[in-house]
Amino acid sequence: MVPSTSALQANLLTVRERIARACERAGRRPDSVLLLAVSKTFPAEAVRAAADAGQRDFGENYVQEGADKLGLLADPALVWHFIGPVQSNKTRTIAQCFQWVHTVEREKIARRLSEQRDPGLPPLEVCLEVNISGEASKSGAAPDGVFELAEAVAQMPRLRLRGLMAIPEPTSDEALQGARFARLRELLESLKRRGHDVDTLSMGMSADLEAAIMEGATIVRVGTAIFGERRV
Ligand SMILES: *Cc1c(COP(=O)(O)O)cnc(C)c1O
Repeated sequence: MVPSTSALQANLLTVRERIARACERAGRRPDSVLLLAVSKTFPAEAVRAAADAGQRDFGENYVQEGADKLGLLADPALVWHFIGPVQSNKTRTIAQCFQWVHTVEREKIARRLSEQRDPGLPPLEVCLEVNISGEASKSGAAPDGVFELAEAVAQMPRLRLRGLMAIPEPTSDEALQGARFARLRELLESLKRRGHDVDTLSMGMSADLEAAIMEGATIVRVGTAIFGERRV
C-alpha cells in the first residue's frame, strides 16, 4: 500500500515535531538529530512523495529492494543508508549503491565493503552495530569486541568510521531502555577517548526515539511513524 502524499507530509511533520520536542527536553539543538526515513517494503513512489515533502535520508534493510528503489528514483539529492543484516555475497551492491552502512559487525564484511567501494566515490560512511541488549539471537558485535573492530575499520581506506548503531530489544521498562541507549553512548565516548574521530549514534525508532534522543542519538531510524504499518 502506498500512503498518500498528504498522509506522508502530515506524518513527517509529526515525527519532526517529536524530534524537536525531545531535543528541547534534552537541551540539544533540533538539527543535532538526523531523521532517517526507513522505507523498507514501501515502493519508490512512497519515497518520492516523502522526498517531495523535504525528506532526504532513506534507510533500507534488503539489498536488492533498496538497490532497485534507488535506481528507479535516480535522484542524486537523496542519501541512502543500508540498515539491514549484511551478507558477504551482497557487499558489492551495498558498496556501490549506498552512502552509509549502519550494520557492520564483522571485520571480514568491512574489508569486503572497503575493497568493493568504487575509488571514484567518497568513502562509505560506516557505523558498527553493537548487540547492546545481549540476547544470543540479536545481531551486532559484542560490546567488548567493538574496540578491536573499530581499530580495523578505521584502517580501511574506502570506509569512514562514523560511530555506533544498535537495535535494542523492545521493552516497556523505561529505565532499562534508557540504560541500553546510555550504554551505546558510553561506548562511543570510549571510542573518542581512544582517538577515533566518531560522531554518530544511530539509535531510536518509531516507538522509542524520544528516549534515544535523551541519551544522545544523532540519527533516529523511523519507519512506521512515517510510512504506516508494514504489511510483511
Ligand atoms: C524497520 C527498522 C526500523 C524502523 O522501525 P519502525 O519501528 O518502523 O520505526 C529502524 N531500524 C531498523 C534496523 C529497522 O530494521
